[in-house]
Amino acid sequence: MMEFKVSELEKEPIEFDVQLPVGTIDYGEEATQDGPMATSGRAEVIHEHRGPKQIVADIRLRGRFSGEFEVPCARCIEPVDIPLSAEFDLIFRPIGADADAPERSITAPETEIGYYQGDSLLLEDVLREQVLLSLPVRTLCKPDCKGLCPRCGKNRNLEACSCDEASSDARWEALAGLRSRIKS
Ligand SMILES: [Zn+2]
Ligand SMILES: [Zn+2]
Repeated sequence: MMEFKVSELEKEPIEFDVQLPVGTIDYGEEATQDGPMATSGRAEVIHEHRGPKQIVADIRLRGRFSGEFEVPCARCIEPVDIPLSAEFDLIFRPIGADADAPERSITAPETEIGYYQGDSLLLEDVLREQVLLSLPVRTLCKPDCKGLCPRCGKNRNLEACSCDEASSDARWEALAGLRSRIKS
């Protein structure tokens, strides 16, 4: 766990360059880290002067990450290997700092705003969000993935199921049954 404390950043900015092993961050069902993730960057405090007596201590976090990930195929849910890497430049304000004035902003338009709780920010929390944001909207294991059968759940890339024929047979039988009843 790498934690940036405001009280420490007030003394001097912190540079980091670390490898996060698999399991450090839980990405939920959307992605799995496949091997160590490299991340480096710099954390510092920026003081926002909002009035003669009101100074807000923001944490600015700039850096990058890169690593190998697996995400489920959007159609058949088999894991697909994808490399991810991105740069980030983020500002974190103390939670509640914008409660009275949500429109107040000194930040450049390319900088995103987040919030930190207490007096510290966890690198892992930031990276989890950045990794999830960098995921492609829709990943397929192959362009013509046949997906899962909506009836029996079989992966139709691996074996053909007979759900379509079976359902049409069932309909035909019902119709045949109806006919025989009408005749008699
Ligand atoms: Zn697939
Ligand atoms: Zn089926």
